[in-house]
Amino acid sequence: MRTTRTTTTFPNGATVPVLGQGTWHMGEASSARADEVSSLRLGLDLGLTLIDTAEMYADGGAERVVGEAIQGRRDEAFVVSKVLPSNASTARTLRACDDSLKRLKTDHIDLYLLHWRGGTPLSETLEAFERLQQAGKIRAWGVSNFDVDDMEEIEQHAPGQVATNQVLYNLSRRGIAFDLLPWCAEKRIPVMAYSPLDEGRLLGNAAVNRVAAAHGATPAQIALAFVLATPDVIAIPKTGRPDRIRENLAALDIRLTVEDRTALDAAFPPPSRKRPLEMI
Ligand code: NAP
Repeated sequence: MRTTRTTTTFPNGATVPVLGQGTWHMGEASSARADEVSSLRLGLDLGLTLIDTAEMYADGGAERVVGEAIQGRRDEAFVVSKVLPSNASTARTLRACDDSLKRLKTDHIDLYLLHWRGGTPLSETLEAFERLQQAGKIRAWGVSNFDVDDMEEIEQHAPGQVATNQVLYNLSRRGIAFDLLPWCAEKRIPVMAYSPLDEGRLLGNAAVNRVAAAHGATPAQIALAFVLATPDVIAIPKTGRPDRIRENLAALDIRLTVEDRTALDAAFPPPSRKRPLEMI
């Protein structure tokens, strides 16, 4: 029986599954494209409807893969994309969004994020986000790689409007549990956890493998179960392999025990003080 929560809700009322699909490195090799499209489509079939992409990935290539995967089934998908800091001025953000829409072959993006903070004043990017929202080209907007001080600043500019903060979070990158996660929880802002498998590095870890063996599970499932056990966190693992979509989905059925958590905490100690936000 599935005992863990399976959805969360953004401030605009949109409800999404807490397990989504990442797309970084998709669209880089034409030989992998068919499997990438199949993976995303299988994910949609199985309810992994949130797909995360960005204009940066494969220079727009990942958005093209997503566009192909959602063709004919746009309404099933919740598409997240991101504008680069180098495009964060008002005029360039408006243009970048139009370009993303073309590659995605859609008329709207469900959630549009500033990929990370650059030198452009936030007010300029927010002006573009507001205009895009009014035009119906994006349904909501958010940020990525913002630490607490950045989040406080954005809340001053646009109180109650930021839909999410997408940040690095996994067993070996737990820093945000000290301050950013509680801050977002208090404001009821769901967090999107990127690289939940630490780009695959966690899969060889001995402690993760021991917990996996005890559950008859795979290391990837344990790494995902850890992230998914955090309230209002959405994990977005990337896989271009359809068999791994089913494997990752099954992480939703795993409940870590107190003993598991103790073993994982020993291997990956939780933060006891503020750590600067890590990025990949
Ligand atoms: P990740 O999801 O932690 O790991 C992806 C790697 O793990 C890939 O090499 C994948 O290979 C492999 N993998 C996936 N499922 C597996 C399984 N069940 N067993 C074994 N290996 C498995 O890393 P990520 O791609 O960096 O992060 C996820 C997504 O977050 C990205 O794709 C992107 O959408 C987003 N992201 C955002 C930012 C940001 O700055 N906002 C930064 C990084 C990532 P295969 O494809 O071969 O399965």
